[in-house]
Amino acid sequence: MSPRVPVRPDLQLLEGYHSPQVDVEVRLNANESPLAPPEAWLADLRQELGRIAFNRYPDRGAFALRAALGELHQVEPERIFCANGSNEVLQCLLLAYGGPGRRAALFEPTYSLHRHIAMLTGTDVVSAGRTAGFELDLPAVDALLHTHQPVITFLCSPNNPTGLAESPATVAHVLSQAPGLVVVDEAYGELAPTSALSLGAPPVPAVSVPEALAEDAASRLVAVRTFSKTWSMAACRLGYLVADPEVVQACEGTALPYHLDAFTQAAGRLALRHVDAMHERVALLIEQRGRLAAALAELPVETWPSQANFVLFRPLSVDAHQVWERLLAQSVLVRDCSTWRGLPGCLRVTVGTPEENDRFVAALRRSLQEDP
Ligand code: PMP
Repeated sequence: MSPRVPVRPDLQLLEGYHSPQVDVEVRLNANESPLAPPEAWLADLRQELGRIAFNRYPDRGAFALRAALGELHQVEPERIFCANGSNEVLQCLLLAYGGPGRRAALFEPTYSLHRHIAMLTGTDVVSAGRTAGFELDLPAVDALLHTHQPVITFLCSPNNPTGLAESPATVAHVLSQAPGLVVVDEAYGELAPTSALSLGAPPVPAVSVPEALAEDAASRLVAVRTFSKTWSMAACRLGYLVADPEVVQACEGTALPYHLDAFTQAAGRLALRHVDAMHERVALLIEQRGRLAAALAELPVETWPSQANFVLFRPLSVDAHQVWERLLAQSVLVRDCSTWRGLPGCLRVTVGTPEENDRFVAALRRSLQEDP
C-alpha cells in the first residue's frame, strides 16, 4: 500500500544507514567501546544529577562544556561547537554550508553518513575513489577539487571503514587545493598517531606541526570528534568540532534552540576529568587491535592495517554475507560492508574486549571452513 502523503522523492533514493540492533552475545558491529565508562565518572555524574535544574532549559551555548573542551585542546571555547553526536555536528555543518547548488566532496569508501547527510540537506555530492590500499589518491583528489570547487571537502581520519589516518601533511595538502572547508572527521582520532588538530589555528596546540598553516587555510580547517568511541559514551550522544569561531557561529545558526540537553552537557564536562582513564582504554584497544590483526593474518582473509578500533577484512574462500550470517548464528555480530561502494566482499569487525575478540576469532575460523 502506498503511503497517503508521499515523502519527498529524493528520500527514496537514500539508502538507510542502519546496522541491525540484534541481541547477541558478542557485539562488534558499531565501533563502540567494549568497555563501560570509568566508575569515578559515573559517581561524578550521579552527584551532578541532583544539581541539574530539570525545570529549566539547558545552557544554550553549552559554555562550561566548551570551556572544558577548549582546555583539553588548548583552544578558546569560541572555537568549539557541541551537538548530539558528531553526526549532528556534520548535519549542522552541511545545513550551514551545503544546500542546493552547493557541492560536498568525499573519497570513497568512507563513512557513509557524509554522503547521506549531504543528500538529506540537498547538497550535491562529488566523489573520487581511493587507491587499492584505500589511501587517498592525491592526483584524483586535486582533480576533483579543481573541477567541482566543493564548499565542503570531507576527510575521515582514521577512515571508517578502512582504518588508516591521514598525515597532517596530507590534510595540509588537501587544504591547499580545496576552495572551501576541509572537514576532518576524527571520530577515532584518539586511537591514531596523528590529528588534524595539530594543524590548528593559534594558540599553538600541544602536538608538533610539520608546517604551520597559512591563516586562510587554518580558518577553513574543521576537526570533528565524538564521545561515542574512546570515551565509552555512545549512549549519551555527544560530539563536537574545533574550528574557526565563524564556523562555530554558522553551526549555532543551524542547530535547534537548546538542542544539547543539560544531562549530556554535564556528562561530557565531567568525562574530561577522567582523561587518564580514557588513555588507558585507548592503550588496551590498541593492544587488542594488534592481537586481532595478528589472528586475522593467520586466516584465509585479506585485511588492511588499521589505526582505529576496527579492522576491515575480506574472506577469500567463502562469500562475505554468508560469513556474516555464520558469525551471527554463533552470536557474534560484525558489520557487513559487502554491498557498500568500493568494498565488495568486505566485513568490518570492531575491536572488543580480549574475551570478545577470542570469541570472534574462533567463530570466524569456523565460518571460513567450506562446511562449518
Ligand atoms: N564519524 C565517523 C567516522 C563514525 O564512524 C561515526 C560513528 N559510526 C560517527 C562520525 C558518528 O558518531 P556519533 O554520532 O556517535 O558521534
